[in-house]
Amino acid sequence: MYNKKEDMIKKIDHLGFAVRSIDGARIFYEQVLGLRCERIEEVASQQVRTAFFSLGETHIELLEPTGPDSPIAKFLERNGEGMHHIGYESDDIEGDLARADEQGCRLINASPVAGADNKRIAFLHPRSTHGVLTEICQKETPCDR
Ligand code: ZN
Repeated sequence: MYNKKEDMIKKIDHLGFAVRSIDGARIFYEQVLGLRCERIEEVASQQVRTAFFSLGETHIELLEPTGPDSPIAKFLERNGEGMHHIGYESDDIEGDLARADEQGCRLINASPVAGADNKRIAFLHPRSTHGVLTEICQKETPCDR
């Protein structure tokens, strides 16, 4: 069994929900839940437009596809709108990926890719995570560049 180190996963950074339209879905988050939209950002590499809402230390991320080949477009086709992934904050994303790999976990991203909010992100396949698409994300610090 792996012994938990102090510098592994820190907290749930965000929950990601697939939506057909951010403009349509944000009304619920803003008007019904009263959350504030922090920013809307397109992540070209993932073919998604994202909107982030603050909720204490955690965020809600809405994901809208920007093209038919977007992974979110495929998700919506199969499942409709809803819970898409959970994002855990890490301060050692390479270490976490290496450990997941060692443990036989199927990695969608073998190394981190650029995500929204200037973060480096990597996904673990839901088949290896008991059904939950799992994102590990790390804030990029200026010295990483
Ligand atoms: Zn995410």
